[in-house]
Amino acid sequence: MNIAIVGAGWAGLAAAVRLKDLGATVTVFEAAPVAGGRARGVDDLHMGRIDNGQHLLLGAYTETLKLIERLQPERPLAQLLSRTPLQLESADGSFRLLAPRLPAPFNTLIALLTAKGLPLSDRLKALRMMVCCRLTDWQAQPNETVQSLLKRYKQPDLLCLKLWTPLCLAALNTPVAHSCAQLFLNVLRDSLDAQRDASDLLIPNVDLTNLWPTAAAETVTMRYRHIVRKVRATQNQVEIDEEAFEACLVAIPPYAAARVLFDAAKESDDGLGNNTAQEQSEAALLRLLRGFAYRSIATLTLELEADWLLPQSMLMLDEDMPRGHVGQWVFRRAAHSRQLTVVISDAADFLKHDRTSFVDAIATQIREQCAKRAKDAPPMPAVKHQRLIVEKRACFDAVPGLARPANRSPWPRIALAGDWTDTGYPSVLEGAVRSGLRAADILQQQLAL
Ligand SMILES: Cc1cc2nc3c(=O)[nH]c(=O)nc-3n(C[C@H](O)[C@H](O)[C@H](O)COP(=O)(O)OP(=O)(O)OC[C@H]3O[C@@H](n4cnc5c(N)ncnc54)[C@H](O)[C@@H]3O)c2cc1C
Repeated sequence: MNIAIVGAGWAGLAAAVRLKDLGATVTVFEAAPVAGGRARGVDDLHMGRIDNGQHLLLGAYTETLKLIERLQPERPLAQLLSRTPLQLESADGSFRLLAPRLPAPFNTLIALLTAKGLPLSDRLKALRMMVCCRLTDWQAQPNETVQSLLKRYKQPDLLCLKLWTPLCLAALNTPVAHSCAQLFLNVLRDSLDAQRDASDLLIPNVDLTNLWPTAAAETVTMRYRHIVRKVRATQNQVEIDEEAFEACLVAIPPYAAARVLFDAAKESDDGLGNNTAQEQSEAALLRLLRGFAYRSIATLTLELEADWLLPQSMLMLDEDMPRGHVGQWVFRRAAHSRQLTVVISDAADFLKHDRTSFVDAIATQIREQCAKRAKDAPPMPAVKHQRLIVEKRACFDAVPGLARPANRSPWPRIALAGDWTDTGYPSVLEGAVRSGLRAADILQQQLAL
């Protein structure tokens, strides 16, 4: 069976590997010159291979980790990813939460109970919330935001500031006041209330394209730099820009999927006929695809004048907006003792600032905060090179009540994949991979591969 995949992000490539395993001939169309989509390597003139954005994986990303391992048996996971038990620590050393190597949920409970920088009463309240959420099967109330959830469990301000708000922003890239409590609880359930290593943090040691997308791409036919304009299903085939395939998996973001699946003339609900069941389900899909809003993430990669090791592989930064201290997390770049990355989630507002002063302010933010934790440690050297990459549509806006399409489409020969499908997760790598695998299985069932 000759199958086309549109989009070589993690969803499209996971599907490509699964369909290849099932015996299909797979052609992947990708607009960019490299594989990986929103999680890809980028060449920088001064710093070599960097990433478009710093990514953190969790031990709970089981399907992703299986795929990486299975595709590259000669490259051990431990070589590709640095794994540490859950550890959240502020750059100035004032806050620290560390999970001991104990079976879940004891590792999380002890981590919360022993957290440094929070009064005992706050730690007990955090613990109580976790226990209550577990007893209620990690179910939020209908249309609840994370902010309302935290209020319902009477979480004190300091605890929200130090723990829940940064965790929510990191997981959902949506501020607590707007973000979906159910998606947040799903992430907590699968990382903190699962196997012991599910809450482990994994940081890639190689660039994201080299982590596995390249290996996946080598197993199929890749058509890079091909922006697909039209995907049209007929009775017995699917045409991709007028080239015929037996089936197609559309693994591009919702705004792009709406464009390729629906005629421009029909890009409004009125333009779609609404009479037959088929027309109604097409109109319903178009409405869902158009219902997404997006949030940006900016990643600043810094190269320093001299070697300098960030005290931990990942540290939380305190923000101070008036001073331009807008970084939220700083990471040590594996195998680069002079490179750091800084993550600025939900970055739209900061992008209006002048870029030079923006970089200087963030460098000062790291320097000042790290200096507080170890007075005798060497200060952070000056910045030699920097690269700011802004992904304007990094993640979908994870608001409560967002209706997300399933992998099945109204056309039996077309399946949908991407982190935006109804995965139960926010915009994350594991959601993309699971979605790709599920979409491939659906095509297999529908076409009896
Ligand atoms: C800066 C940043 C930081 C992030 N941090 C994390 C993190 O720490 N942990 C985590 O789990 N997740 C993180 N994410 C989210 C994660 O990257 C995404 O969930 C995931 O990459 C989505 O994969 P996807 O395959 O669904 O979509 P995409 O990666 O968007 O893939 C779609 C592909 O389709 C291509 N395409 C689009 N239109 C066309 C067309 N018409 N024709 C051909 N090709 C087309 C695109 O070029 C792209 O390659 C982050 C995202 C960003 C941007």
